[in-house]
Amino acid sequence: MEANEKVKIVMSVASIVAVTVLLVAEYRRRRYRKKQTSSLSSCYLHSELKPQFGFKRVLADNSYSGFKHLKLDDGSSSIEKTSNCHPYETEITALLENPKLEFGFLRGEYSLEMNDSYLWIETESQLKELAETLAKEKVFAVDTEQHSFRSFLGFTALIQISTQDEDFLVDTIALHDSMSILRSVFSDPHICKVFHGADNDVLWLQRDFHIYVVNMFDTAKACEVLSKPQRSLAYLLEAVCGVTTNKLLQREDWRQRPLSKEMVLYARTDAHYLLYIADSLTAELKQLATEDSSSPDDKFHFLLETSRRSNMTCLQLFTKETEDFPGNAAASSLIYRHLNGHGDNSTISLDAEFQEHVRELCAWRDLMARIHDESTRYVLSDQAIIALARKQPTTTEEIYDTIAQTDMGAESSPSAVICSHLNDIYQMTRDKLANLDEILPVVLQKCLGTDGTCPISIFNYSLLVNFSTKLTSRSAPKQNRHKNLKQFTRKTSRELFVKKFSCKAPVYHNCRIYANDGRLLCYCDRRKLEWYVNRGLAKLVEENPPAIMLLFEPKGRPEDEGNDFYIQTKKNVCVGCGEGNHYLRYRIIPSCYRVHFPEHLKSHRSHDIVLLCVDCHEVAHAAAERYKKQIATEFGIPLFVRRVLDSKEAQGTSSSMEDESNGNSEEAGVSPLHLRTAAMALLRHGNRMPSSRREELLQTVKMYYGGRDISEEDLERALLIGLSPHERRKLERKKGASLKHSIEVSLMDKQENNNKGQDETNGGEGLAGFEKNMNVESSTVADDSGNGTSEGDGATELNDTQCNGNTLHQQNSKLSLLGHGPHGKQIVEYLLREHGEDGVRDFCQRWRKVFVDAVHPRHLPGGWNISHSGRRDFGEFSVYNPTKRLSTE
Ligand code: AMP
Ligand code: MN
Ligand code: ZN
Repeated sequence: MEANEKVKIVMSVASIVAVTVLLVAEYRRRRYRKKQTSSLSSCYLHSELKPQFGFKRVLADNSYSGFKHLKLDDGSSSIEKTSNCHPYETEITALLENPKLEFGFLRGEYSLEMNDSYLWIETESQLKELAETLAKEKVFAVDTEQHSFRSFLGFTALIQISTQDEDFLVDTIALHDSMSILRSVFSDPHICKVFHGADNDVLWLQRDFHIYVVNMFDTAKACEVLSKPQRSLAYLLEAVCGVTTNKLLQREDWRQRPLSKEMVLYARTDAHYLLYIADSLTAELKQLATEDSSSPDDKFHFLLETSRRSNMTCLQLFTKETEDFPGNAAASSLIYRHLNGHGDNSTISLDAEFQEHVRELCAWRDLMARIHDESTRYVLSDQAIIALARKQPTTTEEIYDTIAQTDMGAESSPSAVICSHLNDIYQMTRDKLANLDEILPVVLQKCLGTDGTCPISIFNYSLLVNFSTKLTSRSAPKQNRHKNLKQFTRKTSRELFVKKFSCKAPVYHNCRIYANDGRLLCYCDRRKLEWYVNRGLAKLVEENPPAIMLLFEPKGRPEDEGNDFYIQTKKNVCVGCGEGNHYLRYRIIPSCYRVHFPEHLKSHRSHDIVLLCVDCHEVAHAAAERYKKQIATEFGIPLFVRRVLDSKEAQGTSSSMEDESNGNSEEAGVSPLHLRTAAMALLRHGNRMPSSRREELLQTVKMYYGGRDISEEDLERALLIGLSPHERRKLERKKGASLKHSIEVSLMDKQENNNKGQDETNGGEGLAGFEKNMNVESSTVADDSGNGTSEGDGATELNDTQCNGNTLHQQNSKLSLLGHGPHGKQIVEYLLREHGEDGVRDFCQRWRKVFVDAVHPRHLPGGWNISHSGRRDFGEFSVYNPTKRLSTE
């Protein structure tokens, strides 16, 4: 090749490259301008038609109000009523107690093959016909497909129903408003519905159609009971039917019509084989019983177990996630993940501006997603939020580019919401002084107000009504700097708290214990397995995850006690909201009562210790504190130490304050924490603080001393009230140095340094409820880890009974910390005296109810229930048997 030819080639290649680069840049600019111009005129929703906007009736809208469940009435009114209870609780409970035994999923000849014919149901008359067909069946199979990307709460896009003879695909977009036609067949206890992994489906059906499933057989639960190596439908299809399926299709956009051939095939496959699979698993379940059991009565045992677990799923209720401020949960989780990604770098963890930006963007994203009925991840990705918060771009173009670069290549990014609302996001991020409580209502007004930019729809119209209550219930409308600062301090200490106290390793190991006949007894942690194995009471039967078999006959079986709880795996997530990034243990029955229970009633804590994220923890704890007050009034046993008339008594421990109760319980006393912080503030700042504040604090201390005038000595003595002997000694030891300093340090220690940034003159009441509450629990969480038992449900169970000496000491320190020790003791003594152990059991149930009412937990392990007996001993050789314990330790 000649030299000038080479040059020519090089030149032309170079020019092609240059032109391409220019074109790409131009394309991006145009794309940007196109999106920009459209944003200036109006919101994208004016031109984009989303299928859900055709729905006339929506049960779960995007407002912050709770979900209303169907309420059955006597038929006198045609208007559907709503409630917060499961409308078919009675029917399902009846099934749990009296399961139907006639399990026959297939009749006569059955061909496994799937032919080409299926029925596409898209009109109301077709749907009615389907309902009539199904009403004649004893059993049918169901699956649903969801769309969640371009919708805030997600919606059911397709329901697949298969009888032995036909496959039906119900177009639930076209028929969204008519789906109540199928309600009665789903809730008919005489018709069995076969699902695979129905946990989500039952909630989705409630959410979209008020359809409640009664009488279900879940093939995934059957796998569980059969200890199958896998539980997925793909596995069963392959193992039982020899059919392969491409699960990737699960993620297709199920809104599209018509569905592609592959999607139709996939959708039919998910329901078509379920009856056959159920039939085959049923045979296995029966077989297992005859092989393993000595008594022929047990023939249906495993089958019943499967049926019971399936119907437990039906009892679940759909709820809308709640949070105390828009986007809060997402923001916390994002910040937490981000901090974790950066290791232990405290400069980043305290980068207040970054965190504020993340919170602001998450709140905005949450609101925009609700307004436009989009998922938050469609509106703005997590990575984009981090990038924006870090970079803090200063122009709309920069904002756009930051997002585009972060989500490189993602077709839907920057989203239509971002493109139509670039100016809004720009204004919000630029306006550094404004606070969210003020910004969000403005955003809402701008979008949905009288001259709003975005269309009002069935999904968003009640946002306008609900929104202001959401904000005002959170805090007073009047905001000032001081308040913002406090909120900020609160947030920061929350982050630190999560970092410090949330469980570092997964709590549940999900190791299994089998009885000597191979039946599953419970899930537990590794320590418990070792305990049995080391004593020659069990042998290891599986390695990973480990499982042991007991070599002795356990006294009771979980199923004998109607107790499903112990044979469920437990997820390492917050049982309230499902948060999996951080969680801490929460004791449903407050320690101040529990430590005084008879030993055998508290040996099984795993039921009443659950994992909660910080937000749910806070809610649960606040409710528990309120309920304690109610208990105090009800029983006439005060929560707090009462006044001491003679100053000599104040030298004693808190137990010396237990004089007889005289009616009005709660007002009569003062909490040790309040007392100590008030005394400390007076000692340190007494002269400097405003007289009104000083008077207030004095009143607190005076209340303790029975109203008499108090001296400086009294104040110093008050600093010791409620401390354990150990804590007192610690305080004394430090007295060599400046008294003031030592007191400060000691009390700070006590409070886990949580309130360091607080204004000390506020005498403790200014501690955000959060820190104050968390003190109590954090110390108990810390206790656990101090014992080396931070991992494991079984471990915490052991903890209670294992080492008496140690426990006693812990109990004492807990008593003083909680300040409700004497109250708890008296309550438990009263219960035992008046009602015996049943009194204690009822009492536990009350607390479980308080917990459920406060948190509305959606992720409790299956089998968890309010009326849990708390009784469960394995007999003579049990790790929980107190006499055995002493001899084997
Ligand atoms: P299936 O129970 O497999 O029929 O799934 C029902 C619906 O759940 C699907 O239509 C999806 O919307 C959703 N889904 C389940 N698993 C996934 C997954 N791994 N990724 C995305 N979506 C999923
Ligand atoms: Mn499916
Ligand atoms: Zn809009």
